[in-house]
Amino acid sequence: MALHSLSTPIEYLKGVGPQRADVLKKEISVFTYQDLINYYPFRYVDRTRFYKVRELSPELPMVQVLGRVLTKEIIGEKQSKRLVAKLRDETGVIELVWFQGIRWVDKMLHPNAVYVVFGKPNEFNGKISISHPELELFNPESNKLGNLTLQPVYNSTEKLKQFSLDTKGIQRIQANVLDAVIYEVEETLPAYLLDQYKLITKPQALKFIHFPPDSSALQAAVKRLKFEELFFIQLKLLKNKLLRTQKFKGLVFDKVGDKFNTFYKEKLPFDLTGAQKRVLKEIRTDTQRGIQMNRLLQGDVGSGKTIVALMCMLLAIDNGCQACIMAPTEILAQQHYNSIRGLVSDGFVSIALLTGSTLKKERKVIHEQLADGTLKILVGTHALIEDTVQFANLGLAVVDEQHRFGVEQRAKLWKKNTTPPHVLVMTATPIPRTLSMTLYGDLDVSVIDELPAGRKPIKTIHLFESQRLRMFGFMRQEIALGRQVYIVYPLIKESEKLDLLYLEAGIETISQEFPLPDFRISIVHGKLKPAEKDFEMQRFIKGETQIMVATTVIEVGVNVPNASVMIIENAERFGLSQLHQLRGRVGRGAEQSYCILMSGNKLSKEAKVRLETMVKTNDGFAISEIDLQLRGPGDMEGTRQSGVLDLKLADLTQDQNILQEARNEVIRIFEEDPDLALDKNLLLKRFFSRKDRGISLHNIS
Ligand code: ADP
Ligand code: MG
Repeated sequence: MALHSLSTPIEYLKGVGPQRADVLKKEISVFTYQDLINYYPFRYVDRTRFYKVRELSPELPMVQVLGRVLTKEIIGEKQSKRLVAKLRDETGVIELVWFQGIRWVDKMLHPNAVYVVFGKPNEFNGKISISHPELELFNPESNKLGNLTLQPVYNSTEKLKQFSLDTKGIQRIQANVLDAVIYEVEETLPAYLLDQYKLITKPQALKFIHFPPDSSALQAAVKRLKFEELFFIQLKLLKNKLLRTQKFKGLVFDKVGDKFNTFYKEKLPFDLTGAQKRVLKEIRTDTQRGIQMNRLLQGDVGSGKTIVALMCMLLAIDNGCQACIMAPTEILAQQHYNSIRGLVSDGFVSIALLTGSTLKKERKVIHEQLADGTLKILVGTHALIEDTVQFANLGLAVVDEQHRFGVEQRAKLWKKNTTPPHVLVMTATPIPRTLSMTLYGDLDVSVIDELPAGRKPIKTIHLFESQRLRMFGFMRQEIALGRQVYIVYPLIKESEKLDLLYLEAGIETISQEFPLPDFRISIVHGKLKPAEKDFEMQRFIKGETQIMVATTVIEVGVNVPNASVMIIENAERFGLSQLHQLRGRVGRGAEQSYCILMSGNKLSKEAKVRLETMVKTNDGFAISEIDLQLRGPGDMEGTRQSGVLDLKLADLTQDQNILQEARNEVIRIFEEDPDLALDKNLLLKRFFSRKDRGISLHNIS
């Protein structure tokens, strides 16, 4: 018989064979012994704890109950034939029900005997029952000695179950595979790390994750495997960063010159916040080192990222370079252009806007002035990365809302100069620290965690449909004060038709409540042509209309300081970060601003948490943490395509400490041994040379 190894096809495993192998492959992608070992339980049932009958509820997972079987009887005919037994403990009685294998159960189930019953509680007609429980005659001795007190539960499927691969079945073949090849599993972490972090070995961890002798062994296994998982992600990310810094020189911005200083002294209309100053310093330091900067700038809506970006651009100009800022949409690009023009005139530095709708004639002039270096700042959409756009000496590229651009698009920016420009990417949505360490772990991160002084926090209230008149009254009041109001409707693709109906009904009501000529309304939704959309937006921006009714097409970055009320209809249907983004459209002027969340009366638990969170806090970072807890990393805004987040065991909401430890350790290792050349790091070096896990050399983050 052939020797078993980790790469042996799964059909050769004892207890598997060709048929089961087939379902294992199709259903859960288990092809080899190794794959099976890596198929961990998704939870464990604590078999040391007995639930009392009174405690049972359908919300509970699999539980075990200790009780005496009182009676058993077979009732019903044909399809509905079943065996029902009553089980009692000192707190009450439940029913145990079998629809299959009735004869066999009838034979082995003895009234009056005490059993350990194991299964999932259900509720039917107000009565608690357990269908098809596992049964064991209670034996105080054997239970104390305990076989497995923590019963692993594996994800199974209907198909797998048909082949007896339910959780018990999977457990059986796990035992076989560990027996066959556990001695082949190699350690992946250097010995000194195991020592330092008190981690158990890999083979031990795998054994314990499948067959934990007790809860401390399980904890040790989980910690070890989580550490390994997060450690190697960080190793990959930081190695990438290292390679990048070794490979690419950076332009040296060694002086703070005339433009920067003059702007700072004469043009800056307010004092910078402490956080803005700190970030500027970080960028200053970064751009003097002769290494290309790759920095993520995080800051809540309204925290003042634009001005920081502008001042960095001035720094680039002072050092003989050009700068550009790229935004994902025309409207955003236009707004950046306007706000930068508001801060520095064309006479101070030359600025141009380049988008898809820039006229050919203007485009030609822009191209020429970029090429000869007279144009210093280019603001635009992805039109500015087209091949025809050539800079004389691009020194800094700012990317706003970088998650909306693909890698190739950002790569094109890099190629706009022979020495790649420094890159500053900005996110409009704060992301939790753990997430940014994982998603953007190979970038340097700057955070603006302070709002400009004197900002009045937006007041948020939640109203139910029945309180709609209050909302209208409030709108009238604010409009009478000369303010403007947004009303936003959800637009979710799956139910686009329904959404449009809502929107249309909403528009009708609003038009009746706020009739011409006293009130004027802008309407913006996805069905409009870009030119119409733009026209409507512009009317609102210029203050010609007081109310803007819109679907979520209104852009994240749109800035209308006079708008003081944001009304979000069907707010229960929005995600937290979206709600926060929308709220960020107001509170941009000196006036007190408000956000009104309208919802139906029936709310899911999660929706309730979302709305309560919005009412409670304005802090985007706090909100992002809650969002992460509610949705998990895979569904967060802007993270959808990231493979980095396919974590097997680690959980970014719970494992912050392990993540931080792993990251710090990797940083330390690369400081000491950047090429992983030391003997003690041999395993780490090997990680990169293994074909299946080797890094692909993406330089672009
Ligand atoms: P965001 O970070 O959302 O892009 P912006 O850069 O658009 O924020 O800034 C929001 C508003 O705050 C702008 O009107 C800007 O001029 C103003 N602002 C930025 N920094 C300060 C500051 N330090 N003091 C006062 N106002 C500021
Ligand atoms: Mg902005």
